[in-house]
Formats: sequence, structure tokens, C-alpha cells
Amino acid sequence: MKILLLGKNGQVGWELQRALAPLGQVHAYDRNHADLNQPASLASLVEHLQPQVIVNAAAYTAVDKAESDQAGARRVNAESVAVLAAAAQKCGAWLVHYSTDYVFDGRKTGAYKEDDATAPLSVYGQTKLEGEQAIQASGCKHLILRTSWVYAARGGNFAKTMLRLAAEREELRVVADQIGAPTSAELIADVTALMLQRLSHDQALADQASGIYHLVAAGETSWHGYAQFVIAKAAAFGMSLKTAPAKILPISTGEYPVPARRPANSRLDTDKLQRTFGLHLPEWEFHAERMLQEIIPKA
Ligand code: NDP
Repeated sequence: MKILLLGKNGQVGWELQRALAPLGQVHAYDRNHADLNQPASLASLVEHLQPQVIVNAAAYTAVDKAESDQAGARRVNAESVAVLAAAAQKCGAWLVHYSTDYVFDGRKTGAYKEDDATAPLSVYGQTKLEGEQAIQASGCKHLILRTSWVYAARGGNFAKTMLRLAAEREELRVVADQIGAPTSAELIADVTALMLQRLSHDQALADQASGIYHLVAAGETSWHGYAQFVIAKAAAFGMSLKTAPAKILPISTGEYPVPARRPANSRLDTDKLQRTFGLHLPEWEFHAERMLQEIIPKA
């Protein structure tokens, strides 16, 4: 299988380099060799390579910055994606693309299903939705994988920020009214590779699998609950912290103002993915604990 991977150094892209490697020949590029700010250049890249699969892990992910840089976010998250989709359609390749819980407004009571009505609250969410729509309109074979609250051991993440703050301060105030599932880049990459492997061996599945899937870890928590988990595990691993678990205080979204609005309910129903591909999504704590074991210095 010849695979073109874009955004190879992002959280998900980095893990995809590992997870896709056993599937075949992976041509992995960063922005220096495949720039989503230059949509036109992507068509010739795909045409030249003639991949069987394009995996797009590149995106404009600066959610707050996007509020004041709508054109930049749209170019990367929608216009370039439209070019990739057209190129995939032309060469008959599958396009794997990642999208987000931010396409929803978070007002639903339960977990969102793939065909629930979208209503993004932010520029980022809107441009990601436009990317999804461009793929669907192109007619290319696609897997649009919507995920949420992505973290990885590599680079910065919410858990690392909490650990740093907890080493400096006696009290932390963390948003408690946004609910979702922290999802590891490792899990996203592994599931992507397993989905592609199934598609390459099961023509009947490949004939009907094109579409949107929700891909998040099982279970749910708030940012506050996530912070409590991180601090409790860190303490159990012997890390010396100033913040006691009881001093992680819940606050509301309104008490932590940021430029982009976030959905209060980010829960995504993964039943379609698990059923269609025969896969199991583990509870969010499983990968979160592994990540903490990797990043917490040994006593
Ligand atoms: P990251 O921000 O870690 O990685 C994004 C990658 O895209 C980076 O390698 C970045 O390169 C690259 N990129 C940005 N602009 C361009 C460009 N113009 N040309 C080429 N590459 C570019 O994101 P994640 O790995 O976390 O996200 C993967 C996918 O998951 C994205 O589609 C995102 O929208 C989606 N998602 C992410 C969530 C999250 O919490 N992070 C939540 C829900 C969905 P560079 O490092 O050089 O800037």
C-alpha cells in the first residue's frame, strides 16, 4: 500500500508515522514539503505520487487564533482539503481526514452521532466543517474521523500544563462544565491503521465504508475531572506537587474567557466505528495513564 501522510510532525501525524509503517510504503511530509497554505501545490504532489491512501493529519489547530485569522484557517482546513479530495478522487485514492467535536454546538443532551446536525460555535469549527463538506462533495472514497481533546506525550498538552502549574501553585481553577473524552494521538493513529488494514482486505466493507466516523476514547470527564486524574496519578507516581487534590477547584466556562467558544458537550458516540470495523475503544484513562507514565520524571 502506498500512503501519502501530511502533517507528519503533529500529535496525530507523529503517531501515524509509527502506526502506518507496517501497512506499506509511507511518504510522510511536513509543511516544508506539503504546505496547506498553498492549496494548488497539493494536487501535483498527489498526481506525482499516485498514492492508494492519503492521510491528512495537517490542520490549522490554533482554535483561538483562528477567530482573528479566518482566511488562514479556511485555507488550511477547507480550501486545501477540497484540493486533496479532488486529487484523491482523480487517482482513486482513499482520503483519511480528521475532524472535530467543534463542528457541534454542544447543546445536545447525549453523545453526538455522525448524522446529528452540525452548528459550529467557532471559526475553527466552521472551517473544519467546510473541510468535511468539501470531501463529501468531491465524491472521493473517504474516512472523516471526528475526534476530541487530543493529547500526546510529545509536545505540549493539557496534562503537562496542569503538572507544571501544580508544582508552582497551591490552588488550580479548572473548567468543569465542558464534558468530553481525552483521546490519545496514539489511539487515533492505531485505529486509523486498523481501519485501513480492514479496508484493504475486505472489498465488501470497502464498498460501503466511506463516510464520517466518531473516534474518541470511551467514557467521559470534564477538564476539571481530567486535571484531578492527572494530579492524583502524579502524586501516586511520587511527584512532588504543591496543589492538593482538594485544591483543584471547579470553575465555569464563563470564568475562563478565551476568544473561541467551545461546546459544553463534546461527547461523541463511537458505536458506528466500533460496529463497522469490529474495533474496541478503551476508556480514556487507559492511554492517559500511559502518557503520564511517559512524561513524569521517575523519582
Ligand atoms: P497538531 O496541531 O498537533 O498538528 C497539526 C499539524 O498540522 C502540525 O504538524 C502542523 O505543522 C501542521 N500544519 C499546520 N499548518 C500547516 C500547513 N499550512 N501546511 C502543512 N502542515 C501544516 O494537531 P493534532 O495532531 O492534534 O490534530 C490532528 C487532527 O485532529 C487535526 O485535523 C485536528 O483538527 C483534529 N483534532 C484535534 C483536536 C485536538 O485537541 N488537538 C481535537 C479534535 C480534532 P507545524 O507543526 O509545522 O505547525
